[in-house]
Amino acid sequence: MIEELRKDFVKNTTQIIVSDTESRVLQSDNNILSIPTGNYLTSVHPFFYTISNLLEEPLDENYFYCVQIENLGKNYFFDIKTKIYRKSGQVALFLIDFTEHYKSVHKIKQARNESIIDFNIAQELNNELQVQRGFKNKFLANVSHEIRTPLNSIVGFIQVLQNTGLNREQLDLVNIVKSSSENLKSIVNDLLDISKIEAGRLEIKNKRFNLHLLLDELVKAHQIQAEEKRITFQFERGESLPRFIVLDRLRLNQVLVNLLDNAIKYTQVGNITFSVTTPSKNRRKIPIVFEVKDTGIGIDAENVTTIFESFTQLEKRGLFGGTGLGLSIVKQLSELMEGKIEVESVKGKGSIFRFTVEAGVSHDQKAEKKLRSRTSKSKESKNSKYRVLLGEDIEVNQLLLMRIFADHPDYSLDIAKNGEHVLKLLDHYKYDLILMDLTMPIMDGFDATARIRNHKNKHISKIPIIALSARCSDEDIEESKEVGMNGYLIKPIDERELFQTMEKLIQRYKRKGQGVS
Ligand code: ADP
Repeated sequence: MIEELRKDFVKNTTQIIVSDTESRVLQSDNNILSIPTGNYLTSVHPFFYTISNLLEEPLDENYFYCVQIENLGKNYFFDIKTKIYRKSGQVALFLIDFTEHYKSVHKIKQARNESIIDFNIAQELNNELQVQRGFKNKFLANVSHEIRTPLNSIVGFIQVLQNTGLNREQLDLVNIVKSSSENLKSIVNDLLDISKIEAGRLEIKNKRFNLHLLLDELVKAHQIQAEEKRITFQFERGESLPRFIVLDRLRLNQVLVNLLDNAIKYTQVGNITFSVTTPSKNRRKIPIVFEVKDTGIGIDAENVTTIFESFTQLEKRGLFGGTGLGLSIVKQLSELMEGKIEVESVKGKGSIFRFTVEAGVSHDQKAEKKLRSRTSKSKESKNSKYRVLLGEDIEVNQLLLMRIFADHPDYSLDIAKNGEHVLKLLDHYKYDLILMDLTMPIMDGFDATARIRNHKNKHISKIPIIALSARCSDEDIEESKEVGMNGYLIKPIDERELFQTMEKLIQRYKRKGQGVS
């Protein structure tokens, strides 16, 4: 049996040829290739020219791998073993057929090569795309920053102008300028956010905060807007909604503002219902459902997904205004917060936008008490005036802050025109807080802060410092933290945010008696 199998196998896969050293065939079993006796092997394939060289080889037996030979229109791949009989001048050749094996290896190799090429091309395209995207983001960030700086003085001075005893007509005009510049400010902020999100540089910062307070503020602001359009605004707060949750307050606020603004914008008659509920209670993490329901123009079923793409607007541009960025930001923020955004809408009837997100819950009663006592403490200590030092070289900015401070009798403001000047004033007077511009001649805000933090006088070295800057790159914010600043406010300065931040830091500074961290 074995003998038969061996014969069969050899017949199908091996050919034995005996030739002379000139490659003339002396014998052949013709198992695979048919080569008549007396013919030269070199006429079958140039590979066989090697036979004449075998005499020079030191070994009698030699191996050649993967020799491709075409015979009678068929392509073979052989491994060839040669054995030379020097005395008789004869050569034995064993042609072992590995055609199937080499073909599949060849295919795999080719596929691998192609996939390497594909990968390289994809990488090349990806690099190009990244460069383009990087350029776009950089461009957006730079342009937005350039717009932000003059906006700073426009928005700020309008606030000041409003309180200068204007007559009715002047006040109406100022209000128009105010609302346009605020629109512009929010567009610039949206553009900056989109470029940050796309560059993967927007970080979600979860912290504990008072959810009820945030909702009250949102409801108040939107109730006024709704009243102006003569539509009803209802708010429903679920019974078991915790007061303190752990989430990114800033980004949650941004999602809700966008949804509520849209509801008011796209509703002409009827009502808007804002409800916030949670199905579960007494757990460490709970889902919170924020729902904004309107009786507005509604959205076609086919468009409910496209509205989340950047720059998508279903209505004719100009009819409602806007940039088509709001919902794209909402969607991307929702993803970053690991939440979910859903829409139900009927064209002409209204829409429901639902945002669901998991939030950490702090059932810690102590924290609430602490907050209450902190508010009462801050009220107590309000009897004395807070003394603030501003480091700022640009005159319009100095003027703007002086005017803003003029409306806050609990605070007084001194001005230093650069970092060096800040240090000088600190040596002569006692301050509760420093507002520090980052870019200043002679000594900039970073340098000045670093020197303050190394000051030998403990009162000076621990004083709270807030950066005021028109720049909002992560690098600047990071660097300001590294040198020891306690807060970072982006120009145009929001008056309310400025005083809230100052109050918080000064209270913490006074409570600790030795500084803030
Ligand atoms: P914008 O409002 O600036 O155009 P958004 O990204 O916020 O941009 O919204 C995209 C589009 O989705 C809007 O242009 C509008 O056509 C549609 N849309 C958003 N919210 C509503 C809503 N509450 N009712 C009807 N249509 C809406």
